[in-house]
Parts: sequence; C-alpha cells; structure tokens
Amino acid sequence: MKLNHNRHTAVMHVSATKMSQNFSFEDCRAYHISKGWSDIGYHFYIEKSGTIHKGRPLNCNGAHVRGFNNGTIGICTEGGLDEQGAPKDTMNDLQRLSVEGLLLALKEGNPSMKVKGHRDYSPDLNGNGKIEPFEFSKACPCYDAQIKFGIFNSTLENVLVRMGR
Ligand SMILES: [Zn+2]
Repeated sequence: MKLNHNRHTAVMHVSATKMSQNFSFEDCRAYHISKGWSDIGYHFYIEKSGTIHKGRPLNCNGAHVRGFNNGTIGICTEGGLDEQGAPKDTMNDLQRLSVEGLLLALKEGNPSMKVKGHRDYSPDLNGNGKIEPFEFSKACPCYDAQIKFGIFNSTLENVLVRMGR
C-alpha cells in the first residue's frame, strides 16, 4: 500500500496517557474538539491494539506541532506514561508494527519524507545545532525517534531492504 502525499516530515507523538488507561481514537478526537479545534489534531492515531485510525486527511494541515503543522504529518500512538504518570516509552509490538507499516506506506508515497519526534522541535537553547534532552520543552513522544525509526530517514531502497520487501 502506498499513501501519496507531498509532506516532508512525519512527526511522532504520544497521547501522554498510562497504558492501564484507555484513550481511544474517539476519546482523543473528542478531547481535541473540546479544546475548540475543528477535528483531531493528528493525521493518524494508533491505539494500544495496533489499530490505525485516520484522523485529518493528508491534504489538510494537522494541529500537532506548534509552528510546524505546514508540511508535516502528525502520527500519535496511545500511551507514553508509566503508571506514576512519568514519561516512558510504552510502545508495544503491535503499535510498533503498525507505525512501521504506516511509515513505509508514507515513504513510498513520498520517498523524500523524513521522521522526527515532537520534542525534536524544541528550541535549540544553546545554539549548538542539536536539540539535547535538557532543551526538550515536551517529553513527547517519550523516545528517540531517530533511534527507533531512523531507518525511515534513509532512502526508500534502504527501508525496503531493511523491512524485507
Ligand atoms: Zn506531541
């Protein structure tokens, strides 16, 4: 499957909820609409079950990363907090497989697309060209997107080989 689009970056998010809590696509959508938004802010939402829900259409801007909604795709996975409410990478295998399949479809639809995490858009406070942990204005997505999904910043050929296609 190929999802055609002309957006340059997929930005990863988490719902910032505990894994013991259910926060479905519809819950997230209702929450965003309650804030006065026209729709859910993300283009895709992946529940704990691995189910991928389509939010905003790819030809519409999302509302997921302040100042950078133009040209980006918002992808959110349910979870992101430990049981005490602290940021934690809670992504399970079902979610990870779904994210990888989705990113592959998006990469096939636009091979120049890159992947980043929401926190990578934090301000570079000391101006050294790198967004370091002390500069994160948000923990989202509670993992290093470059480590987890960095293969998608490579060429489509590399991605296909790596995923055994
Ligand atoms: Zn986020």
